Parts: sequence; structure tokens; C-alpha cells
Amino acid sequence: MTQTLFRDDAYLRECTATITAISEQGLVLDRTVFYPLGGGQAGDAGVLVLADGREVVIADTRKGKDDEGKFTEAICHLPALPDPATSVLAFLMSAGLKTGDVVTARVDWARRHRLMRFHTTTHLLCHLVPQLVNGCSITPDYARLDFSMTDPLDKDLLTAGIAQLVAAAHPLMVGSISDAELDANPALVKSMSVQPPRGSGQVRTIRIGGPGPEQMIDLQPCGGTHVANTAEIGAVIVTKIEKKSATTRRVVLGFAA
Ligand SMILES: [Zn+2]
Repeated sequence: MTQTLFRDDAYLRECTATITAISEQGLVLDRTVFYPLGGGQAGDAGVLVLADGREVVIADTRKGKDDEGKFTEAICHLPALPDPATSVLAFLMSAGLKTGDVVTARVDWARRHRLMRFHTTTHLLCHLVPQLVNGCSITPDYARLDFSMTDPLDKDLLTAGIAQLVAAAHPLMVGSISDAELDANPALVKSMSVQPPRGSGQVRTIRIGGPGPEQMIDLQPCGGTHVANTAEIGAVIVTKIEKKSATTRRVVLGFAA
């Protein structure tokens, strides 16, 4: 099991950690600041700094899987391979890495911060477009959110709506609710494609807006990493709206040049 430091503090850029496993799935640490692909958000990249100062470049981060393909509590850090045909395990062994080694895990912060800005913007879109989401992808260069709806959406109106919420500098708060509370309030789940991060009896939530009920902009279960205030999103715009199908409208987000 890997302790998920990024869930409590998305701003942690590095941590020291101990290697607990090395396999074809990558390198597992006892704790990490690297977010694993999930909930639509891309996995983190960065470097692991070894005790002798050498750096192993991490290209992606994934949740571990057991023999049946079910997710485990391990977070696997995938090295950038000099040749994609190389075995991950062979590469890590040849780099001299072994279980018990202490490393510094340092996330590519510029890349992660873009993911955070986009992820929070997708939650703002859920406020602006109160329709169910049936697809989501957040990458460092663009994000897209698919809404289950038939009415057209206006690109410029949505960009203006985002700009207004960014200018209003709404704070974000990480919280949690019990599985039972979530079951009693199914409307909190705005996504048909991403399952709430259940498992421990508590579900992590992201709330946008001040503490009063009238200040709330959005509240939904989410395991992703977010900025602390909508002001930090800066200039994110809607670059495209696509009619993906008769019942799906896709909103594509990008950074203003
Ligand atoms: Zn989210």
C-alpha cells in the first residue's frame, strides 16, 4: 500500500520514500506525491532522485493491479524507457534499484500544476452546465468533458462563465462524506463515467465556494488534485465544442495563448 500524500496536500512537490516493490508494473513506494492516472486525470511524471544523486525519470504513474487485473492500493511509478521494447523490470534492475532503497520522489510541478488548473476548471464546468458527465480526460495540454445532453452549448458564453468564476476567487476545500451519505444524496455524483473514490467507508469530496450554503459553487466526490482557489486557474478558455453524438456535447478546454 502506498500512502497518498497528494490527497491531503496537492502542493507537495517532493517527498522522501522507500521502495517497497519493483516489478514490470514499475516501482512502488511506501508514500508518494505522484498522482496515478484515474478519475480522468493523467498520471504524474517527474524524477526519483537516488541516494547517490542519480535521477530516474518517471514518465507516468498508475494504480497497481493484482493478478486478476483489479486495482490494488499500490501506486506504480513507470520509468521513461530508453527503448519502448525494454522490460520495465530489466531497466529498473539495471539501474541498480532495489527494495528498501530510499529515494526522493519529485513531481514535474509545472506539468502537475497545469493538470490541477484544468481539473478544477472541469468542476466549474459542472456548475455552468448542470448536466450529467459521461466522459472526462485531463491532460497537461488540454482537458475535455463530455456532457450527456442534446441542447447546443456556446463556446464564448462558457469561456466568459469560467473567467467570471476565476475572477471571483472562490476557495476550494477538500472534505469527505460517508458512503451512506453519498448513497442518500445521489445527485452529488455528476459523472456517469467516473466512479466516486469509495472503499474506506469515506468518500473524498471537493467543494468550490465559501463555507456558507449560499456561497457554494460545486460539491462532488473526487479523488483528483486541485488548486486551492479558482483565481489560480488563470486564463483557461473553451477552445472547442463538439457534437460527439446525438446525446453528447464535448467541451474542450485549453490555456489562452
Ligand atoms: Zn474531479
